Amino acid sequence: MDLRFSADELAFRDEISGFIADNLPDDIRQRMRLGYSPEKADTIRWQRILNARGWAAYSWPREHGGPGWTPVQRMMFLEENQLAPAPDMQVFNITMIGPVLIQFGTDDQKRRFLPRAADLDDWWCQGFSEPGAGSDLAALKTAAKREGDEYIVNGQKIWTSTAHMADWCFVLVRTNPQAAKRQEGISFLLIDMKTPGITVRPIISIDGTHHLNEVFFDDVRVPVAMRVGEENKGWDVAKFLLGNERSGIARLGKSKERVRFAKEAAGDMRAGGRPLSEDGEFRRRIAQLETDIKALEITQLRVLSAQKAGEGKQDPLTAVLKVKGTELLQATSELVMDVGGPLSMPEWAQELAALSNEPELGPVWATEATRSYLMLRAASIYGGTNEIMKNIVSKAVLGL
Ligand SMILES: Cc1cc2nc3c(=O)[nH]c(=O)nc-3n(C[C@H](O)[C@H](O)[C@H](O)COP(=O)(O)OP(=O)(O)OC[C@H]3O[C@@H](n4cnc5c(N)ncnc54)[C@H](O)[C@@H]3O)c2cc1C
Repeated sequence: MDLRFSADELAFRDEISGFIADNLPDDIRQRMRLGYSPEKADTIRWQRILNARGWAAYSWPREHGGPGWTPVQRMMFLEENQLAPAPDMQVFNITMIGPVLIQFGTDDQKRRFLPRAADLDDWWCQGFSEPGAGSDLAALKTAAKREGDEYIVNGQKIWTSTAHMADWCFVLVRTNPQAAKRQEGISFLLIDMKTPGITVRPIISIDGTHHLNEVFFDDVRVPVAMRVGEENKGWDVAKFLLGNERSGIARLGKSKERVRFAKEAAGDMRAGGRPLSEDGEFRRRIAQLETDIKALEITQLRVLSAQKAGEGKQDPLTAVLKVKGTELLQATSELVMDVGGPLSMPEWAQELAALSNEPELGPVWATEATRSYLMLRAASIYGGTNEIMKNIVSKAVLGL
């Protein structure tokens, strides 16, 4: 295991950070720094700038419109992008459907969808989970019956992030309810969200935003040409996709950026008559988080180093990255919220704003910190819950 970066890798990192510094629109950077989630328009604008440079589809090979980077280069790119701070690439497009089509798609599907996914001309969403089929995904019931060269789809998906703004959805459906094993009767379909029979209903999450949805399918007609992989072999496609979903999920750059922001903001806040940044307990907490981030960074490099050496494609240690990375995202969002103290209480700030014509009390980053803290409670659920990840670690890493 070699944890040192080569001179080429260090030069690569400088090239990435220089490009981002020169090209990230200032209004987007300012909003991200204050802790806002990127708007759809921000993500599209930034992804197109990166795509024009050939970098947006950062994990794809060159022949399909990606830069053909090594795992270390991808990690550096993601980290510099998060540190900027800039919007992440649209995950369903770049990390999920792109690699799936490259691996399993027909030539027509690749030609039609890959360039549009990279440039965000199509916004994709993921229709996997159902009421009763989350961790136990193979229990899914949404049915697709074949009629000539079409499937007729009926059923319901849930927790479908960004479905209300999506052009297309990749969906797992049951095509053979009689299969001996549940996993053997599933297929993977690409569904145009404008098709008649689709209803999208919002689910407002605890942070007060509309990100999640229920999606209902009532006699939705989908051409057979929109199936990816063989009929009833969709489980193989789903497993491949879920393996990719976990890579890059640690988002260490984001945690680092939040700690850096908290340190700056603490200079302006007071604790016991002194700047919070001088408070011993606060400094201890920062030191602990920075140590945990460093430890996970080394684990991430170990995983990458093993990949480089070709020691195995799907390393179960990525489950550790998911658990620890999301715990750190939660801890660092809590840190920023605590720096804001009482000013981080959005209800209170809203009430004051309504009662008074004075400018809002306290900085906007503090109320956004609470929103982000609340939303990130979900980070230990999506992408495979942390309990399921710990099951993987206990079996596949610890051999228990
Ligand atoms: C913010 C957010 C966005 C999401 N976006 C999408 C999306 O875009 N598309 C999509 O398809 N899905 C999405 N999901 C759904 C997500 O994949 C599921 O919520 C997740 O897989 C868990 O499934 P579940 O909610 O049905 O919970 P369950 O599977 O019912 O789990 C409930 C609890 O039991 C625990 N548990 C379950 N089985 C075991 C076990 N074997 N051992 C130990 N503990 C267990 C779980 O860890 C959890 O704590 C999203 C979820 C969230 C919160």
